[in-house]
Amino acid sequence: MSSDDDEFQIAVVGGGPAGLTAALYGTRLGHDTVLIDRGGGRAAMMADTHNVIGVTEETSGNEFLRTGREQVESYGGTFERGSVTDIERTDDDRFRLSTTDGEITAERVVLATGFSDERPDPPLPRTGKGLHYCLHCDAYMFVDEPVYVMGHGEAAAHVAMILLNVTDDVDLLTRGAEPTWSDETAVQLEAHPVEIVHEEVTGVENDPDTGWLEALEFADGTRREYRGGFPMYGSDYNTGLAESLGCDLTDDGTIDVDDHGRTSEDGVYAVGDVTPGHNQVPVAMGQGAKAGIAIHKELREFPRSTESIARDGPVELDEVPAVSPELLATAIAHEGHAGGPRTDDVADHEETDHEETDDPPTNTGTPAADDD
Ligand SMILES: Cc1cc2nc3c(=O)[nH]c(=O)nc-3n(C[C@H](O)[C@H](O)[C@H](O)COP(=O)(O)OP(=O)(O)OC[C@H]3O[C@@H](n4cnc5c(N)ncnc54)[C@H](O)[C@@H]3O)c2cc1C
Repeated sequence: MSSDDDEFQIAVVGGGPAGLTAALYGTRLGHDTVLIDRGGGRAAMMADTHNVIGVTEETSGNEFLRTGREQVESYGGTFERGSVTDIERTDDDRFRLSTTDGEITAERVVLATGFSDERPDPPLPRTGKGLHYCLHCDAYMFVDEPVYVMGHGEAAAHVAMILLNVTDDVDLLTRGAEPTWSDETAVQLEAHPVEIVHEEVTGVENDPDTGWLEALEFADGTRREYRGGFPMYGSDYNTGLAESLGCDLTDDGTIDVDDHGRTSEDGVYAVGDVTPGHNQVPVAMGQGAKAGIAIHKELREFPRSTESIARDGPVELDEVPAVSPELLATAIAHEGHAGGPRTDDVADHEETDHEETDDPPTNTGTPAADDD
């Protein structure tokens, strides 16, 4: 537990759905947690939110993220707007993070830095209104509609064929580039009703009222109507910090992790789009939750092992609960607390050194159960 302003148990880099969830779990499980986020990111690009149970479709990404930040802060988590420029392991096996605002020290680091989609050259439809970067989020919009896929590699060819699951009108636009898909994929493409268009795109026609794509114009003077489509030019993973810490990457360029988000480097976790797996909000949140719980298991102080009891003796009443005074006060004042917000108790905890009282609160904030 730490009390200094720049010392935390958990530092989360990246405030998308993955990082916010890791920070929420860390904070609500009683650990001083800071989340540093420079803004932007893929969730911030969501015009509306699909596939997230409990979140209405018309919720924008920025609204979703704002609510998440408010949740983390309401439990006593610290949010900092800024960039983490460097992370190094200290001699005492903690981590020193350099940010645009200064330095932070933490016992565990969660990298939730996401990736950027490679954007094709213009002219392009408007993002979210004919240009879409998330197949599993937006394919539903195009059921029985004319769609395009832009690209000339394996992923583009496969996504074009995948879209036949929702519509019978799919064009694959190579935009004049030489295809790089394999011979096997070429055989597959030939056997599916996907039209391959090699001409470069020269113009975009949008509905003047809604801004939605109506048609694309091509170098040979043709015009093709589309409702929307997906550019497939790859992902630029934000792995610089992971690499400088020595974390292994996969062949795809993502950070290699186990099922709990542990990287190859002790104490360093990674979650969300920067790791392998489906790039979806619920998946990112699940990974953030798993990492938050895994870190809690590493950091929590009780139950003390038999070796430690033999060495240090039994746990004294004044050693519990193992939550910092700040998080303790926040928990007692929080709506979710069993006793409800009790401003008198909070004031007592703020004014009184807890170790000197005979009557500590019974709610430790740390679950007794080992796994859940
Ligand atoms: C246009 C679009 C629409 C989408 N729609 C949906 C949808 O409807 N439903 C759905 O389930 N999924 C959707 N997705 C996918 C979803 O957005 C991602 O899977 C999800 O946001 C991944 O969360 P994340 O936290 O891993 O990454 P991100 O949301 O990308 O967040 C990463 C954060 O880390 C920050 N960061 C990176 N490096 C640093 C650093 N060094 N210091 C500080 N901060 C840093 C970034 O600025 C960013 O804020 C959509 C994606 C796009 C692009």
